[in-house]
Amino acid sequence: MRRLRDSWQIHTLQTALTTLILEQNSRRVGITVKYYPIFLDLAGARVVFSGAGEHAAAKVRLLLKTEADIVVVGENPAAPVREWASAGRVTLIERSLEARDVQDARLVYGANDDPALDAAAVALGRAAGALANIVDDLSGSDFLTPAIVDRDPVVVAIGTEGTAPVLARTIKRDLEETLPASTGALARIANGFRPIAARLRTASLRRTFWQRFFQSEGPKALVAGGETGVRETLLDLFNDTNSGHQPSGEVALIGTGPGDPELLTLKARRKLHEADIVLHDNLVTDDILELARREAKVINVGKKGFGKSTPQERINALLVEYASDGHKVARLKSGDPAIFGRLDEEIEALEEADIEWEIVPGITAASAAAAGIGASLTRRGRNSALRILTAHDVNGFAEQDWRTLAQTGSTAAIYMGVKASTFLAGRLLMHGASAETPLTIVENASRADQKVVATTLADLPRTVADAHITGPAILLLGLSPRSARQVLPHAAASLKQQEA
Ligand code: SAH
Repeated sequence: MRRLRDSWQIHTLQTALTTLILEQNSRRVGITVKYYPIFLDLAGARVVFSGAGEHAAAKVRLLLKTEADIVVVGENPAAPVREWASAGRVTLIERSLEARDVQDARLVYGANDDPALDAAAVALGRAAGALANIVDDLSGSDFLTPAIVDRDPVVVAIGTEGTAPVLARTIKRDLEETLPASTGALARIANGFRPIAARLRTASLRRTFWQRFFQSEGPKALVAGGETGVRETLLDLFNDTNSGHQPSGEVALIGTGPGDPELLTLKARRKLHEADIVLHDNLVTDDILELARREAKVINVGKKGFGKSTPQERINALLVEYASDGHKVARLKSGDPAIFGRLDEEIEALEEADIEWEIVPGITAASAAAAGIGASLTRRGRNSALRILTAHDVNGFAEQDWRTLAQTGSTAAIYMGVKASTFLAGRLLMHGASAETPLTIVENASRADQKVVATTLADLPRTVADAHITGPAILLLGLSPRSARQVLPHAAASLKQQEA
């Protein structure tokens, strides 16, 4: 479950923890949830259980966390139910459920572990206008009871729409570990400070104030000085924010790897999660963008299909503008930002505006493509050098040291090479490369739709024409897939096609 924990990196409280899981789903286009999570105010509300045995006790235990007025109706009560009743925490009525019991009830639980009795309870509950639930029977219920991580007043509810209770429990355990016990304390102390924070002049100042508190100052103060320290920090922060002191913004230039979110570095995930502005290239996948915070503003500055790209000067200006306003900006680039990423131009603009920046390296497409074909980019006795080159530059097709590249054993990762394949093959053959030089095209490296096509230099233009490559692709000159067996199944299929 380490993966899960990393992918959520819950660093901040003001992230809507309670809707985190729904959020993860709903951003994915086309997916809808059947159950909409809400938090019900049960203070003083009547919650009625039909059934008083062990089955009921497990659920009553959960409801005891609330301020509900709990009524348990049933014969042969389990020991804990009896204890709760004598402690005055629940009202116990030792007979079977009747209509008058559910009058004015907000929730009614059928907890007899008996389909007929439970169905009768649900019917009575619904007739009285209550929401009804049969314990462990989703189809007969109006709502489900989620697994809960309790950091009062912060509560995380986990639901799987009944599909995977075991998964819900695993996620719960994972979140229990991830969410520091201080989470609740910070939220509670912050709540007491809300009337004062409300005096900050603008919504943006208030947001900045709470962000600074929950993201960094609050947790630090709690460790260093306990609750008193937190209260002092709140006042200091308030004065600082109120005096108009603007925290300085910063830009993280982040490599997001070839597309598979698992290939993000932990640092990239954290920085992405912390950002309030996200500017991304088109090759950055939706799975990765989903890791941004719900409140973050996400802007695509990349080229869409054959549409226009945002001019580089405009991107530079946006970076400077947002950071100057005090924002944490995540600039996402596919692969490694230092490889064909126009990184220097952005850094120069930031330097000029005196804005702090940082590079977070990523896994470049060449590494992912090599992994996809089970090959090594360097190899003793074959190639002690690897060239990373583009077939395109601002002037069109890019000239290279063709003579060296044409030598037997020479290895190159060619970016943006698909459209230039005829040019590439022509130049290399002209400079003496063998027509049989192996060459592998890897499209969508690391993604579910990765495609591998093995060919030779002489066949490259024809192969490209036949292979219908539409996604990002890299050409690995001098390399062939280790074996069909090691390649992903769909990749192996396309390989066979080419060989036929
Ligand atoms: N900075 C990126 C490269 C950006 S240039 C990196 O380090 O990977 C864009 C080119 O990268 C694409 O035209 C393609 O050649 C290559 N590329 C990016 N993602 C890729 C992927 N998932 N599979 C194959 N090639 C990819």
